[in-house]
Amino acid sequence: MSTVRTRIAPSPTGDPHVGTAYIALFNLCFARQHGGKFILRIEDTDQVRSTRKSEDDILAALKWLHLDWDEGPDKGGPHAPYRQSERSAIYQQHAQSLLDSGHAFRCFCTAGRLEEVRKQQMADKLQPGYDGHCMHLAQADVATRLAAGFPFVIRMKVPREGKCVVKDMLRDPVEIEWSQVDMQVLMKSDGLPTYHLANVVDDHLMEITHVIRGEEWINSAPKHLLLYQYFGWEPPVLCHMPLLRNADKSKLSKRKNPTSIGYYQRMGYLPEAVINYLGMMGWSMPDGSEKFSVSQMIASFDIKRVSLGGPVFDTEKLDWLNGRYLRESLTDEQFIERYTAWAFQQDRIRQIVPLIKPRVERFADVMPLAGLFLSAVPTIGADSFAHNKLTAEECLRMLQFSAWRLEELRDWDRDTLEHALVALSQQMNLKIRDLLFPLFIAIAGSAVSVSVIDSMAILGLDLCRARIRHALSVLGGISGKQQKLLEKDFQALSSANPHPQ
Ligand code: GLU
Repeated sequence: MSTVRTRIAPSPTGDPHVGTAYIALFNLCFARQHGGKFILRIEDTDQVRSTRKSEDDILAALKWLHLDWDEGPDKGGPHAPYRQSERSAIYQQHAQSLLDSGHAFRCFCTAGRLEEVRKQQMADKLQPGYDGHCMHLAQADVATRLAAGFPFVIRMKVPREGKCVVKDMLRDPVEIEWSQVDMQVLMKSDGLPTYHLANVVDDHLMEITHVIRGEEWINSAPKHLLLYQYFGWEPPVLCHMPLLRNADKSKLSKRKNPTSIGYYQRMGYLPEAVINYLGMMGWSMPDGSEKFSVSQMIASFDIKRVSLGGPVFDTEKLDWLNGRYLRESLTDEQFIERYTAWAFQQDRIRQIVPLIKPRVERFADVMPLAGLFLSAVPTIGADSFAHNKLTAEECLRMLQFSAWRLEELRDWDRDTLEHALVALSQQMNLKIRDLLFPLFIAIAGSAVSVSVIDSMAILGLDLCRARIRHALSVLGGISGKQQKLLEKDFQALSSANPHPQ
């Protein structure tokens, strides 16, 4: 049998997600257990949402967790480049070959027409999807439109009859009617591939033998299998892992739980504890032990032991496990070393010192001011929000509106934050000082602190989000009904006077 090759294929469109590390871990274990290779591929075909910063952060986060890959954009390898944006010519060639073999067609339909079709399908209670309009265009028609420079996409043909059988390492074969499968766009009008084409072409060219990925992709499997068939390639073995969940079993979301790996790093979790915890998601050691290393996991690895019940990513359990690592696995010497490395990161200190220095008279004054950068949520109660003018309810509203506004930001630096919060205060008819009051309490635990905007810029969105969420709960939380009303208000306020971005 050929060498086992697995891959993690993140899209660099946001903060490194714990779900990416979780899937990477299982790919790594499977590859290592079989003496195979683990590949990192960057899927950055979405030009609008992909950024190099996000790619760098993802690589750094995976490295922090010691999820070491054998080939990747930073390492090279026999199938370079490992960044999809550098492989456009390959996808174009493959799309052309599908056009030539009659398995794909150019579609000139406008967005307006597609919307009409969709509306009609909804009204007729039919499965929404492309209606095949351009599939039968005569060659001459296609040529005329091309010559006239009409924009087009390339879609794959999908049979309207029969069934596709999807085999998966963790499930019984699933049968899906082809009529339920849309004629997927493979190449967009900008000449770039969609995820589906690029993913299949790369998995084949990079000789991936086992595709281990999140369950959310299972519905794409029929399209992928059909593409393999069209190209005349052997498909890889598929394995769809259960998705990580919030405590209420909904899909893990940053609104309910911190999802970015950076958050765990900033909060002082040990990478070995985080990775151990991810190994407990849907999987367990045969002897039931809860504390184990990646090498122990590899030695006992059996993908068939993955259980499909949605694993709950429970930060309290992670805290407990991390505590065990701190107490049981580190000598005092190691503890000192790891703590110092965490607390005194030079780049962080360089950001903090200019805020602190103007306010101190002795070194002894540093820690009370800098403590907010080195701790979890501040110790606050509802009484911390006591103010001579603002009520608790107003504070709650300001915090929630600020949180929503902060979520919309694409950049996270002090000027952007200041701009956004000043704009929000104007929209809310508040003095900026008043809007910042509950933020001071939420972020720093006190209204007497270094600049809250600078602090937020240094802490980053994840830590700020967690602190604001904590403050909201301290203030009694927001009921579902209240949330809806606030959302409505917030939208009205934002659309009446759109904040400049
Ligand atoms: N780029 C996809 C993602 O971000 C990869 C999915 C897959 O592994 O096929 O999740």
